[in-house]
Amino acid sequence: MPLIFLGPPGAGKGTQAEILAQQGPIPHISTGDILRKAITGSGGLRPIASETPLGIQAQAYVDAGELVPDHLIMAMMRERLSQSDTKLGWILDGFPRTVSQARGLDQLLSILNQPHPQVVYFYVDANVLVKRLLERGRKDDNEDSIRRRLEVYEAQTIPLIDFYQKRKCLLSINGNQSVAEVTNSLHLALQFPVSA
Ligand code: AMP
Repeated sequence: MPLIFLGPPGAGKGTQAEILAQQGPIPHISTGDILRKAITGSGGLRPIASETPLGIQAQAYVDAGELVPDHLIMAMMRERLSQSDTKLGWILDGFPRTVSQARGLDQLLSILNQPHPQVVYFYVDANVLVKRLLERGRKDDNEDSIRRRLEVYEAQTIPLIDFYQKRKCLLSINGNQSVAEVTNSLHLALQFPVSA
């Protein structure tokens, strides 16, 4: 089943996507990970420059906590969702992040003849998010970038909740809990999906 994990930075989308992907045949696709890899040539932790053209164009946006322009993201996703490991489904983490990306994804899925995804929304209190992000220590997890990413999330990504809720394909999960508790809630919700 194709899934979209939606929620603020620090909600645990990546952690949960990784756990779920390890249990089955569907890949975890994180736009942030793909971008960090394009920028540094690694997972984003090694400051070694082996930049690709995508990395060169994306770096300033990622460092500042701004969204990378849609045309770059859409081209990247078109390529990724065309790969052969996506046939049984996928878990998207960090994409779509705007209503225009969600519309772009709709078009892409019809071109690729892939089914519409179930959307899982992880809600988390703001103070929990900031604490988690500061503890994580990624290059873009400094206070300015965190503040900016949360602002961008509020302005650009929150409208997606409504967008998918209207389609009756949104499940909500309490992301304030521990990793194991969120995993449990997710399993239950996906086994017995009830639209929020
Ligand atoms: P993430 O790992 O999802 O927190 O993403 C890290 C950074 O990558 C974001 O702050 C953005 O700069 C960029 N990014 C990731 N996904 C997207 C997207 N779907 N659209 C635009 N920018 C993105």
